[in-house]
Amino acid sequence: MVTLKFGGTSMANARRILGSSEIIINRAKEDRVSVIVSAVAGVSNTLQSAIDATVSGISGSNYVTDLRNTHNEICRELQSKLPGFDAEKTMAVLEPNFVELEKLLAGLYSFGECPDTVHCRIMGMGEILLAPIMEAVLLAKKQSIMLMDSRKFVYTTGNQKEGEADYGRTAEACLPFRDGENKSQTRILLFQGFICSWIKTSGATPVMGLLGRNGSDFSAAIIGSCLGAKRVEFWTDVDGVYTADPRVVKDAVLVDDMTYEEAMELSFFGSKVLHPKTLAPLQAKGIEAWSLNSHNPSARGTRIGKGPFESRAKSSICGISSLKHVAMISVGGTLMRGRTGMASRIFSTVSAAKSSVLLITQSSSEYTISFCVKDSEADIVRDALSKNFELEIREQLIDEIEVHKNCAIISVVGDGMISNRGVASKFTNALSSQDINIIAIAQGSSERCISAVISGELADTAVKAVHQFFFHTAQTIEVFAFGAGTIGGTMIDQIYQQHDKLLKENVDIKVLAITTIDGMILNEDGIDLSNWREQMKNPMFAFNSDVNVNDIIKFVKEKKPLNPVFVDCTASYDLPDRYLDILNAGMSIATPNKRANSKNMEFYHQLRKTANKMHRRFLYETNVGAGLPIIDTLQNLYKSGDKLTSFNGIMSGSLSYIFGKLDEGVPFSKAVLEAKELRYTEPDPRDDLNGMDVARKGLIIARESGYNIELDDITMYKVFPDSFDASGTVEEFLAKLPQVDDYFAKKIADLKKQNKVLRMGATIKDGKVSVGMMEVGQDDPLYSVKGGENAFVFYTERYQPIPLTVRGYGAGAGVTAAGVFGDILRTVSFNPEGLD
Ligand code: ADP
Ligand code: MG
Repeated sequence: MVTLKFGGTSMANARRILGSSEIIINRAKEDRVSVIVSAVAGVSNTLQSAIDATVSGISGSNYVTDLRNTHNEICRELQSKLPGFDAEKTMAVLEPNFVELEKLLAGLYSFGECPDTVHCRIMGMGEILLAPIMEAVLLAKKQSIMLMDSRKFVYTTGNQKEGEADYGRTAEACLPFRDGENKSQTRILLFQGFICSWIKTSGATPVMGLLGRNGSDFSAAIIGSCLGAKRVEFWTDVDGVYTADPRVVKDAVLVDDMTYEEAMELSFFGSKVLHPKTLAPLQAKGIEAWSLNSHNPSARGTRIGKGPFESRAKSSICGISSLKHVAMISVGGTLMRGRTGMASRIFSTVSAAKSSVLLITQSSSEYTISFCVKDSEADIVRDALSKNFELEIREQLIDEIEVHKNCAIISVVGDGMISNRGVASKFTNALSSQDINIIAIAQGSSERCISAVISGELADTAVKAVHQFFFHTAQTIEVFAFGAGTIGGTMIDQIYQQHDKLLKENVDIKVLAITTIDGMILNEDGIDLSNWREQMKNPMFAFNSDVNVNDIIKFVKEKKPLNPVFVDCTASYDLPDRYLDILNAGMSIATPNKRANSKNMEFYHQLRKTANKMHRRFLYETNVGAGLPIIDTLQNLYKSGDKLTSFNGIMSGSLSYIFGKLDEGVPFSKAVLEAKELRYTEPDPRDDLNGMDVARKGLIIARESGYNIELDDITMYKVFPDSFDASGTVEEFLAKLPQVDDYFAKKIADLKKQNKVLRMGATIKDGKVSVGMMEVGQDDPLYSVKGGENAFVFYTERYQPIPLTVRGYGAGAGVTAAGVFGDILRTVSFNPEGLD
């Protein structure tokens, strides 16, 4: 005998039902089989909705019509696909159930509530409706089959809606159908899952009961065990048990073998793959359980058995699960300390309130006991505890009972944990990498499972992060590129080129959004970067900076990517006003845009505070010196206790070029013209010559060195003599410019006599920033800096008398884009070494 269970996913429509029937027939060729079917996918939910609606005074007839249509349609489709299947006849068999359902609902309508017995009769209808359809299919396929009524075989006690199996009585009922000498025994026994007979008290007449939500798995285990099956197969819509729910973790890994204990922990702590009570009866008899895919029957599936298994020799954990809709209840107070029997008093109260405890933690001082129950039971439990401890609470020996609703329990499970140290720290590291607050942590006494209680809405993020840490899947970076002009566009191309190489180093970088003035494209799985410029021609969203930012924020809040990075490659003055919103949404920011850091000091501090609070990064290495390592170097000096004493820098490619040319005797106006033609300057060279860009960079350097300073505090020395009128259009200005040639030529000649040259840049001295021309001697590092090169000269307490100098090209799309790319890569957190 082999037992096969088909869940709703294997019974969703006529095609699935036929597929499942083929699996049954193939198994029946080798052995006798007992088959447990659940309801058509969605039917149980419809039944529950019908009850809820009716009780609240809305007629349930529509639901009955719905159900009739669903089953009717399946029958008609089966008839068209399967010769010998008679739809009319099958529907006639089902019809009395719809009539009964109408009646039951009508009763509820006038009654206004749903007693347990009626609840069980209604909720069990889905299984009762599907079984005759499967029977008819197998009969049409000429199988030796018998439809059994599970209520005559499976007996329970305890809770009517969620009973405990009475194995004695069930085994007795099953006895005649166990494998025997009689070769003419029926090959296929067909049972309904979920439904059973419930015995209220010993000797009472059994009435219909249920095995709890998704209880068909449990049905299969009870029936398989009592019929003496050698194997129980659970057929669903995935290839087996994965290391995490494959709908949450896209790269979850299929587990070949798992021990009973592991599978039990996983299902107890929320993994949907098997009902939590399923494995105990199978383990008791050493019956192997298999999780198999009815949509892909040739896949091997996952075996659940006694172990140890060779396939699992190396890995210490086999899965991660999350249990949502959980509440944590805490009982504390001075009376808790050292008093024996408090725990037992608490837990007997919980159990009297018909709730079960999912997890317990106790602080080492014994001052507080915290435990989790289902959210839906939390109020009842709190009331029961408040009542039980009424006196103590009034006397303030016990604090008011605390309830923390909407939590989730995240668990990592694996036998290998026993021999592997470091699992707990890896687990907590993974959670803290996503800034997830751990409300409580507990390790099962078996050392097979560690669980953390966290806030419910973070459950999926937590599972993803923990999975990443334990299974070495690549760390992800999700880039939202705002602005894709020269710098942004080059950066996107660089990401595209480097993607595969980074993946080999376990970093999976994806661009999820690109925004330009043409509009925005957004793709949850990552934009195909091979032709992103093409795609920008038909953007999904029109351009509107604020709306696009809002859409990105909404997307991040909904989809919760693990490591979202907002990249501002615009020169926008307004976009930085949104940075706080962006950080608060849980994104990091990387940007070459200087605007944010040159706003007022208060905003400067706020940005950093918000980033810290959110455990995200605000990165702007390219604000100064493009790809040159300026900001990082300064921050490291500052953090390690060094102090800037003074600074000189040439921080503009155009000014470097123009003033370098003067050394060679080129007239000032000609040098400016050349620089403009080489596109070193802005379209209006006065935008460079007025020093404002240099001032912003100087401001940022001063701030990074620890000075509180505003843009207005900077002293600006003019380049032109007072007599020169620099106004007018660009053309007018350029036409007038030769008037200053003599002025500069004389300056240069005078300096030359002292072996000096003229340079333009920023200086910081005694915390004061000034921008203007500098007379530079031969031993100054700036003496030879020209031709567009930048140079940054830092004199610090440690770097003197010879300063720390960084020089190189401080502009250009390639180096700037690479600098931003570098910032993006700095957002991935350190992944501690694996344990194996
Ligand atoms: P059935 O109706 O056949 O019982 P369920 O929907 O109850 O099927 O269970 C199968 C689903 O369980 C899968 O589609 C999968 O999304 C989910 N699931 C959750 N955790 C896991 C896991 N660790 N491994 C495999 N599937 C899982
Ligand atoms: Mg299920």
